[in-house]
Amino acid sequence: MSFPLDLPPYPAPLARWASDPQHSRGRRLPEPAAPPRNEHQRDRDRIVHSTAFRRLVYKTQVFINHEGDLFRTRLTHSLEVAQLGRSAARALQLNEDLVEAIALAHDLGHTPFGHAGQDALADCMRSHGGFEHNLQSLRVVDLLEARYPAFDGLNLTFETREGILKHCSARNARQLLQAEPDGPAQRFVDGTQPSLEAQLVNLADALAYNAHDIDDGVRSGLITLAQLDDVDLFARFKQQVLAEHPALATVPGRRLLFETLRRMLSAQMADLIASTQATLQAHAPADAEAARHCPPLVCFSAGLQADVTALQRFLFSALYRHPQVMQTTALARSALAELFAAYRSDPAAMPADFATAADAPRAVADYIAGMTDRFALREHHRLTGRRVFEE
Ligand code: MG
Repeated sequence: MSFPLDLPPYPAPLARWASDPQHSRGRRLPEPAAPPRNEHQRDRDRIVHSTAFRRLVYKTQVFINHEGDLFRTRLTHSLEVAQLGRSAARALQLNEDLVEAIALAHDLGHTPFGHAGQDALADCMRSHGGFEHNLQSLRVVDLLEARYPAFDGLNLTFETREGILKHCSARNARQLLQAEPDGPAQRFVDGTQPSLEAQLVNLADALAYNAHDIDDGVRSGLITLAQLDDVDLFARFKQQVLAEHPALATVPGRRLLFETLRRMLSAQMADLIASTQATLQAHAPADAEAARHCPPLVCFSAGLQADVTALQRFLFSALYRHPQVMQTTALARSALAELFAAYRSDPAAMPADFATAADAPRAVADYIAGMTDRFALREHHRLTGRRVFEE
């Protein structure tokens, strides 16, 4: 299938609405430049070298980490988001380095056990200021990484931090603004958009998990190719593949699935790039700042958006709410709640920097949120004497 777009030469100049690293709003603590890298490349490097980034390899995406070696983890998911985001950024002449930095950092605040872990910590923290993984991702890069002599966190640029803070309630936004007026929470009060690069990572995130959750869902046996015949976006590419390669209908292995997903991803990328080019031309923002005051400009066409929504509805009911997934996540959720209670009653069971923190419940949430799936299971066994899953 040919890519129906005129692509810019490489390296291409940034579009006038792209985030130019030379015009970054900078870091909270100013630092001298680090040539030859620009400030967003430098952010990316800090993220890749962080402890939180390495932990992503043992954190659940949908399937708990011990269920199989080939399922996506938060790390491989983040790499796929970065790959998709960079491809689109290059075609759109947006800032590829910033897209990569945001993509690699976007899930750093995720708890062990995916959304089950997030729900458990949100429950435990209900009367202690709450817990939300987007805010936690910002907390990781602003505060929790402890690797520089002069500051806590990674001291990233405003643009990377803005992209990491993808969602935020008005209440949380007001609280963040008290500590940092004009910070990345300001847009949730003003009702403006984040940079085009941040908008792009949001869509690349959805593109990545829609495709890889089908792959992992089929691999796990929880969803079947036959079920996917009811999902238009998948079924039409599957028909196309079978028309060109009829033998794949009976060939063992997953070539039919992989080729269908490959075509589905390519078509979504082509649509995203073409639709975004059209909205950018129509709104013609004068620069990156003006783009923040436009409606969201990085988008799918209305037709593809409807297909994507239908696919997400299918994944939600057939996979994320599958009884087997629900059973596993219920166990994981109660394990994290028990772990939270155990550290609350015995803070000394945590490392000293967490055990002695002024805000005790927040320190427990920070400690648990940073854990990998398997470390959380080991700690749960150590502190309760019980095993959550058969090993
Ligand atoms: Mg993600």
